[in-house]
Amino acid sequence: VVKSGEVRKFPSRSFREREHKIFWTSRNAARTCRPPSFLRGFFVHYARRNLRPLPWRDKSVSPFHLLLAEVLLVQTKADDVARIWPKMILRYPAPDALHKSRVSTLVRLLQPLGLQNQRARSLKTISATLLQRFQGAVPGRVDHLLSIRHIGLYTAAAVACFKFAQRVPIVDANTLRVLGRITGHKSGKDLRRSKEIWSLAWALLPRKNCALHNYGLLDFAGQVCTVNQPQCLSCTLNKKCAYGQQRLVGGSVGA
Ligand code: SF4
Repeated sequence: VVKSGEVRKFPSRSFREREHKIFWTSRNAARTCRPPSFLRGFFVHYARRNLRPLPWRDKSVSPFHLLLAEVLLVQTKADDVARIWPKMILRYPAPDALHKSRVSTLVRLLQPLGLQNQRARSLKTISATLLQRFQGAVPGRVDHLLSIRHIGLYTAAAVACFKFAQRVPIVDANTLRVLGRITGHKSGKDLRRSKEIWSLAWALLPRKNCALHNYGLLDFAGQVCTVNQPQCLSCTLNKKCAYGQQRLVGGSVGA
């Protein structure tokens, strides 16, 4: 879930490489990580009650159409993507249709989202790669998805988890912020380089219902623990969350 002020940025190449490395190394480190017990099952429970009914979350959506949605969600609000995505999936049922499309057609279609030239080029490259290297199918593994130019870690993990039931965390600035606040982790602004928080994200993954857990974490980040106005006063975690306690005890939360 992406709300105003919480958009995912296009990362630089060197940043992406560091991020990929930490993704895999923190998976091993997670074996010795002991998450707070109150977080076990919390996000699955949250999702069961508060799941946002975004159209690309429907089980019938194809991996290719989910991939389109996740690529469009970079630097864009979910509500804006929800206006364009239905037109995209009608016009492009599969990668070959997208590959054959004129760039100018794509640019026109994507214009309401902004960054239309960049997005059109990215989508053309992605569809070409799917056809050339994966016989027109979307691969289900994070490492295979990451080998496709213009697919970042968030997108790869989302597709692998939501469409191929891979047990991987969905880690972006929003979910890291939530975990960082709860644990009181201090790593300056860049939690994306914190191996502890990444390890926690891995360690929190349930054996079952991994997709629901990730949806819950994303929606909690977008609905409750937002960037600028976390709702600590009404948040069910406020007695256990380090940041929430700091705000409540410090009196920085308005009634
Ligand atoms: S108490 Fe506040 S900071 Fe902590 S998880 Fe809840 S909303 Fe976020």
